[in-house]
Amino acid sequence: MKKTILTGIRPTGNLHLGHYFGACQNWLKLQNEYEFFLEIADVQALTDNFDHPEKVRMNVKELAIDLLSIGIDPKKTTLFIQSKIPEIAELTVFYSNLVTIARLYRNPTVKTEISQKKALFGNDGESVTYGFVGYPVSQAADITAFTGELIPVGEDQLPLIEQCREIVRKFNHIYGDTLKEPEALLSPTPRIKGLDGNEKMGKSLGNAIYLADTEETISKKIMNAKTDTTKIKKDDPANPEVCMVYYYHKLIKNDHLETVCEECKKGSRGCVTCKKELIEKMNEFLKPIREKRTYYLEHTEEVQKILEDGSKVAKKKAENTLSNVKTKMNINYEEL
Ligand code: SF4
Repeated sequence: MKKTILTGIRPTGNLHLGHYFGACQNWLKLQNEYEFFLEIADVQALTDNFDHPEKVRMNVKELAIDLLSIGIDPKKTTLFIQSKIPEIAELTVFYSNLVTIARLYRNPTVKTEISQKKALFGNDGESVTYGFVGYPVSQAADITAFTGELIPVGEDQLPLIEQCREIVRKFNHIYGDTLKEPEALLSPTPRIKGLDGNEKMGKSLGNAIYLADTEETISKKIMNAKTDTTKIKKDDPANPEVCMVYYYHKLIKNDHLETVCEECKKGSRGCVTCKKELIEKMNEFLKPIREKRTYYLEHTEEVQKILEDGSKVAKKKAENTLSNVKTKMNINYEEL
């Protein structure tokens, strides 16, 4: 029996290379080896975008198209929309009694995100909603609804898995053995840096290359990427390790990488030539993804069907979990 993996992504924008190399590439492998559930987490996206639901709505389709274009295969992956599975919300309500508010506030992931919000909004946390603080509980509901055994995460997300395990243990202790404790599957790839050299690539940072970017956009972005700032003249030797252009040559596995490195160090390579080569390689890398994107954009009814079918499969699994949970809690009123 294949183990079950549950992972999710918030529909807050198109996929960029940070998503691709940081998580999605790994999913393409995992979908061949496991029973793979991939959730488009629209409800979770609303914790930050509750006042702009149209943003979330618009991005669901875009994200589904991106995911299918990179090779998420609906024959291997159950791709579904979170809000189409109301059982998750019901489980969230039941689990919310199993965790204290103090424990949620102590969760390091929640703590970090709250302090980021405080810094962003410059207040003492008044903008932090109940839905936001409680999202580890809804995440536990996501995981257990589909009996997720392995959860691919980065190190910063480990506390969320631990929180889920605690909820599962508490449920099983009070109501009897019902739920499986999930395990974290640490993602092998670190964070992907932005074009500006920032440690993180992100939409809000304006330093991302999107899978949906046109050739023209790619060209403009790469021409503005951060290089070794000590290189003033074309034939100055430089250090490729501090250059984002070299970083992306490496990331997309340019087969002339050694030449790029040597020529940069010797000063026999100009940055403009180097950037132009990267633009060409990047477009080659993105070509098959672009072709698939064009196909799905022209066949959105196919995308709709994939999401509907996936959501039906996911719902069935979640219904089963919810029924077990309610039976164990003695609130299944099929028989009085
Ligand atoms: Fe970066 Fe290439 Fe310029 Fe070297 S030659 S600093 S690797 S852009």
